[in-house]
Amino acid sequence: MNLALHRSPLQRLSPSLDGIAFHHESRPDDDQQFALQWLGTAGFRLQLHGRHLWFDPHLSRHSLAELAFGKIAPVTSRVLAQVDAADGVLVGHSHFDHAIDAPVLAQHFGAQVYGAADTLTYCRGQGVPEAQLHLLAGDLATHALGPFEIGARRSVHSPFALGHVPFPGQILKQFQVPAHASAWRVGQVLIPHVTAAVAAGQRVTIAHVGSAALIDAELRGLQADIVLACTIGRHATPNFTHRLLDALAPKLVVPCHWDQFWRPIDAPVRQIPSNDLAGFLMEVAAHRSAPRVRVLPILGWTTLADAIDAR
Ligand SMILES: [Zn+2]
Repeated sequence: MNLALHRSPLQRLSPSLDGIAFHHESRPDDDQQFALQWLGTAGFRLQLHGRHLWFDPHLSRHSLAELAFGKIAPVTSRVLAQVDAADGVLVGHSHFDHAIDAPVLAQHFGAQVYGAADTLTYCRGQGVPEAQLHLLAGDLATHALGPFEIGARRSVHSPFALGHVPFPGQILKQFQVPAHASAWRVGQVLIPHVTAAVAAGQRVTIAHVGSAALIDAELRGLQADIVLACTIGRHATPNFTHRLLDALAPKLVVPCHWDQFWRPIDAPVRQIPSNDLAGFLMEVAAHRSAPRVRVLPILGWTTLADAIDAR
């Protein structure tokens, strides 16, 4: 992160990521390890005791031309190239870059899907059995899945498109794919959270903030050891980084949703113009709690035990 701090504001907005210090770690070979993988966009895999929980997996990664002018559908081969096990999928809101691939994990791996009514309606339309669909209402209810306890708080979407949320509204009816990207309306926005029973007496909470916005009061009482934080669009939410760290008091922050998600997953990573990842890292470093930060490369891993040890 050091070099990033010395870039000019203009340099920080360019797609190049010169000076960003990526965390490099190979995939833990032991399924018992408590570890996290970033998938690009707001997608993550959480691995614990041989169980795999996915947040907003977006692996289909359509091109800009397809997104703007075409119709899109999950690209099963791209999803299966990265997913080898899935017990659960959490979806924070139902825009295509968060929700589109959830049905593939449900159908190929039997994953349970957790999301707002909009996401569940989309999945139902793709034939996901009702028994695998679990509503996250944003209240204090939780769902147990192996070593994980799953819940969500209500949130909002960053109004980053000239003050507006793209594709507003709800998904009230099932629809068939391929469909225009706009078919995936934003729906109810959530901040899903998971508490993992890592070891006897050790519980770790992870919060997934898939859009750079929040409702401070909705997060009251929720402390998250690890925050997976969307960075694109945060400039449209006043004081986003500071408020997020104030509300959740994490020990570790992993930024996400900064890459150009319309590029193939194996293409050199570029940040979304205007994202300013370096600026986000500076905002985190300037917060009085000074949590650790790990910037992962796409498909990169980090083990979590050392990252959340008491400091
Ligand atoms: Zn969105």
